[in-house]
Amino acid sequence: MVISVAIIGSGPAGFYAADALLNTGLDIEIDILELLPTPFGLVRGGVAPDHQPTKGVARKFEKIGNDIRLQFFGNVNVGKDITIDDLRGMYDAVILAVGAPSDRKLTIPGADKDGVFGSAAFVGWYNGHPDFADIDPNLKINAAVVIGSGNVALDVARVLVRSPAGRARTDIPGYARTPLDASPITDVYILGRRGPAQAKFTNVELRELLDLTECVPIVDPADLAQAIPADLEGRDRRLAEKNIETFHAFAEMDPALASKRLHFRFFASPLEILGDTHVQGVRVERTRLEDGRAVGTGVVDDIPCGLIVSAIGYRADPIPGLPFDDKRGVIPNEQGRIDKGIYAVGWIMRGPEGVISSSRPDATDVAEHIMRDFQGGGSKPGRSALDKALAERGVRVVSFADWKRIDAAEAGRASAPAPRQKFTDVDDMIRHLDEDK
Ligand code: NAP
Repeated sequence: MVISVAIIGSGPAGFYAADALLNTGLDIEIDILELLPTPFGLVRGGVAPDHQPTKGVARKFEKIGNDIRLQFFGNVNVGKDITIDDLRGMYDAVILAVGAPSDRKLTIPGADKDGVFGSAAFVGWYNGHPDFADIDPNLKINAAVVIGSGNVALDVARVLVRSPAGRARTDIPGYARTPLDASPITDVYILGRRGPAQAKFTNVELRELLDLTECVPIVDPADLAQAIPADLEGRDRRLAEKNIETFHAFAEMDPALASKRLHFRFFASPLEILGDTHVQGVRVERTRLEDGRAVGTGVVDDIPCGLIVSAIGYRADPIPGLPFDDKRGVIPNEQGRIDKGIYAVGWIMRGPEGVISSSRPDATDVAEHIMRDFQGGGSKPGRSALDKALAERGVRVVSFADWKRIDAAEAGRASAPAPRQKFTDVDDMIRHLDEDK
């Protein structure tokens, strides 16, 4: 009998898992359940809006979504509309592809002041994610600080310093583009608590800063003088070498060439957020490295700023009824298998690291587990049971055909050169679908 599979989450990990299963040749039926009416997870809500070619991977997922063996159930809240236990009763296999949606928490004093945002909220805001469309950061400021030296910090900083002409080619929603374009911001600081050799930036993303038209990246040449540690080997060493070469290129640029500056402050650990109720600055302590760890030197200084974005990594949320490794922030699993009938892929399975295609090997592993676990075929009803339960509970399911209508409307109402004008409110999306029959 056909094997029924429910995938929870329609980001890259979910779609790669579906693709791997569809390619096994198994007699299979797959349903992807998604909280939002829109698919593709981080491709839509996380990838920077000025990285449109990266967002183009959605076209591959679109093709997978068109397979007749697969159905998209958008606007379904797993945990509320239907539980994981319900799904396990209905489907032979349930795959968790729910990602790591929460911020790793910034715990220094003052982190709760107005004007301090986690990267999930800030990135979600400029990407039109319905959960963060209302955060309304004050951008009538001269300086901002981004904490963390990973690719998300680079994305945030770049969006802040990009020219209005550069932003016009993105799908940043109007509510964010207008204040970003009008912002008098001139200085953005990226804080790394360790050195340039330990930064997590990938080199392509770092070099991209050389192409900014209104902004010059600035780094203190003294921070580049430290030798790359001998124990940094292989890919990590090559990355550090390339990044330091790029930082040297930054150090040779003339800051007078542009109206904005992106400062890389290494060996700078945030100690405290300053200000009354609203952020007015951040106190940082100079660090030195001891066995690869940042250790404070007692030398402190203050960076005045009106906005702080903490981009220090993400965390998966525990799932009720399933074990959780709180230290690693993942569901304990063996190459994606939690138990027979329940599996995990992507960031909930291996932690919040890697680019979009990093989830592809997870998918292959899970497809193999499912092939082994269900050699005799499936036994559970799958889609018919889900359809019935959601209909009984009055859930307004958004199908893949519905999504395509949202997609077409977004593209149709964009003003060139913007690729789309996103819906940023779930009710607006549903209203559009109901009115546009
Ligand atoms: P990340 O790469 O893990 O970087 C997090 C940064 O935060 C590190 O520099 C870390 O420093 C720092 N940090 C952690 N805790 C801190 C604290 N308490 N105080 C100060 N700094 C702290 O995470 P991410 O930038 O969120 O990115 C997540 C994943 O998505 C990464 O694999 C990234 O490459 C990927 N991504 C890729 C792209 C792209 O390819 N264009 C774009 C966005 C994201 P330590 O190293 O000292 O801990």
